[in-house]
Amino acid sequence: MESLSGRSKQVVNKELTFKERIYLPAILGGMWITLKHFFMKKTTIKYPEVKREFAESYRGLHVLKKDENGAERCTACGLCALTCPAEAITMTAAERKNGEEGLFREEKYAAVYEINMLRCIFCGLCEEACPKEAIFLTNEELTPANYDRGDFIYGKDKLVEPQHHPIGKIRGGGPLNQRNYHPYGKGLVTLS
Ligand code: SF4
Ligand code: SF4
Repeated sequence: MESLSGRSKQVVNKELTFKERIYLPAILGGMWITLKHFFMKKTTIKYPEVKREFAESYRGLHVLKKDENGAERCTACGLCALTCPAEAITMTAAERKNGEEGLFREEKYAAVYEINMLRCIFCGLCEEACPKEAIFLTNEELTPANYDRGDFIYGKDKLVEPQHHPIGKIRGGGPLNQRNYHPYGKGLVTLS
């Protein structure tokens, strides 16, 4: 039957030649390709032991910044959550009490701040929306793999930088080099 597009081809059940029937040339050809790649420069790396450097513009894990006095900058205004296209951010605001000025910069702060890393698309809009320069996506870390969905909800224990780093060259100032991964995958633990 004529095809409508006129591009159809008749399938021919061609007889295998003797060379094709003994398979040996094809096997040797395959082995030659494998052997050739054995001596070529490798394009793969042994991640996570070896890590590639990220581009400066890369958007990786988030960090909640502290100011130069070590107080959290976030004022729980909710703009990051509002702007997030993936609805990945949730928070609970609280009022700062007397004596907590060293902990929280503003009178209102985020008592709970969570990012669902399974929803996050690392677009960086939260960073751009923040009026307090409190949240940044660093270019140093990826979200580590895990077996439990609950472990992808990152709370303040994982997000707040352990100590103030100036907002600088690397987005957010590069505090993540002070975070240590638990060697056997129970998420991030932060240095106190
Ligand atoms: S990077 Fe984008 S998707 Fe991820 S939390 Fe920020 S705004 Fe939401
Ligand atoms: S991180 Fe910034 S935008 Fe988000 S709640 Fe805190 S101050 Fe507001």
